[in-house]
Amino acid sequence: MLDRFGRNIEYLRISVTDRCNLRCIYCMPEEGISPISHEQVLRYEEIVKLVKIATELGINKIRITGGEPLVRKELVSFIALLREIDEIEDISLTTNGIFLERYLDNLISAGLNRINISLDSLNPKIYKKITRRDNLDDVIRGLKKAIKSSIRPIKINVVLMKNLNDNLKDFAKLSIKEPVHVRFIEYMPVMGIEKIRGLTEEEMLDELNKYGELEKTKSPFGHGPAIYYKYKNAKGTIGLICSNSHNFCYKCNRLRLTSDGRLKPCLFGKEEVDVRSLLRTNASNNALKEAFKNAIYLKPRGRSKNKRIHHMYQIGG
Ligand code: SAM
Ligand code: SF4
Repeated sequence: MLDRFGRNIEYLRISVTDRCNLRCIYCMPEEGISPISHEQVLRYEEIVKLVKIATELGINKIRITGGEPLVRKELVSFIALLREIDEIEDISLTTNGIFLERYLDNLISAGLNRINISLDSLNPKIYKKITRRDNLDDVIRGLKKAIKSSIRPIKINVVLMKNLNDNLKDFAKLSIKEPVHVRFIEYMPVMGIEKIRGLTEEEMLDELNKYGELEKTKSPFGHGPAIYYKYKNAKGTIGLICSNSHNFCYKCNRLRLTSDGRLKPCLFGKEEVDVRSLLRTNASNNALKEAFKNAIYLKPRGRSKNKRIHHMYQIGG
């Protein structure tokens, strides 16, 4: 379905939980959050019902996110249910990787097509500083297993922060040695976390150019806003996602569903459509379809100025 500005909305990002087993300094407070109650969280059958309706409007790609999606029970069965929907061509998962080693085989068998692992440093001390937890070894085991498996592409998301994880040597080497796509993400300032300073695109490139000659290359399968580069003879690539310096809104094809059942047309905005109330008052499929149309209608042309009331862990990034 085209929105008011001619963008084809075909991609739904679904947050299945706001809970997480990490406390990344740019995303969650140290003391954690007061998670929404289980009754408020959409049940898998409810999400599947919504996805089926969304496919009637042209949604054909799904990303599962959170909080940490792999902390929610039965995620594998949920992916298998999504896989049964013929119109869904692509199912991907964004995870912090802690439980990846445990679930990867089953996720692939259930029909997961692609994976993004968020991993901000390969140095144990820096990883712990950023995530406030000591799980780097778990993530590395998950990553190694993914590399050995059939799942492709494997993307690694790295949020860059000045004077913290801005030495990119280890990631540059990783992209040369392994078939992975390391994407450096410009930090997005969020509510209450003002101290962190991100890296600009220019600063990222200056640092990356120290480790070899980079040439532009095409995007591995995906629909995102990254610009891709490659080192000579590298098995993988380097992607830069600089949403503050570049405006990607003109090609934004996404809609987001929060774990408590709100459709969000823009990551940065307050605009939302409550579909949980509709689901739980037995609204007709037509009414649900109208709710999707309304959310698509509310999609702003550019970054919403109507500042959001949700955190990243609630919307899923
Ligand atoms: N827990 C999962 C994970 O970390 O991959 C999925 C949810 S997390 C909110 C999704 C993505 O949002 C992660 O790649 C994370 O690094 C990114 N993210 C969270 N807060 C951010 C911020 N302030 N700026 C940029 N990216 C952010
Ligand atoms: Fe958890 Fe992901 Fe947020 Fe880190 S970025 S605290 S892993 S939801």
